[in-house]
Amino acid sequence: MEKQRIVVKVGTSTLTGENGAPSLRTIDKLAQVLSALHNEGNQVILVSSGAIAVGVNKMRLSFKPADVCMKQAAAAVGQCELIHIYDKCFGEYGNIVGQILLAPEDIAVKVKRRNLRNTFEALLENGMIPVVNENDSVSHAEIESDKKVFGDNDMLSAIVANLCEANRLIILSDIEGLYDSNPHENKDARLIHRVPEITDEIRQLGAGTSSNRGTGGMVTKLEAAEYAVNHGIDMHIAHGSDPSNIYRIMEGEAVGTHFVRRY
Ligand code: GLU
Repeated sequence: MEKQRIVVKVGTSTLTGENGAPSLRTIDKLAQVLSALHNEGNQVILVSSGAIAVGVNKMRLSFKPADVCMKQAAAAVGQCELIHIYDKCFGEYGNIVGQILLAPEDIAVKVKRRNLRNTFEALLENGMIPVVNENDSVSHAEIESDKKVFGDNDMLSAIVANLCEANRLIILSDIEGLYDSNPHENKDARLIHRVPEITDEIRQLGAGTSSNRGTGGMVTKLEAAEYAVNHGIDMHIAHGSDPSNIYRIMEGEAVGTHFVRRY
């Protein structure tokens, strides 16, 4: 198998249970799969959501707060917890993680973007696994805004994939992929395994879908897919409950939905 640079994005609903507690089985399996790919010579970047949900659980709040400051406080607490778990799980498989928290201006401002890129390169070249999230406790505008730039980290993961010139972006979610109709309403809905081109018809299929506990649905995934394929990156959506799906994608199996890069 050709060595690749891969970005794997995992959403809140995959990383946490109903009450926001971290899904340790899934996280441990994820660390094992990504460590195996890393040990086989691939370079791996993990984009992880879940900070707010984990923080809400750890702070023993009864529900996700509407108040922005409280969300940011929860993110600050939850991010510590998450990175602690990643450090421990990846450590069990002999790997080292490095945390990178991003706000939109870190990408938009040229000098910040260059520094960021250099940091990613230094981590990857030295065999580390970057773990990325939006800097929720600082990035005030993002949590509040209806039109989030990063969405449930879907767009963030596509931007990171482009910044790092990754070959592949894999988004693990609480849905198998893109269906030809809403699978929650139509039991005959069929999974689309391959999208050679993102047409208006494809965009239409994403409308009206949402994820259970994260903030992104299919719309943000399609936006991320469009960005990725236009930047020469293959993108996949697959179910996150079984992180071994990542192996199958890497081996070319038709798992989830593959958005084919344009060049
Ligand atoms: N960056 C947010 C977090 O880590 C994403 C929240 C979400 O939409 O799932 O909590």
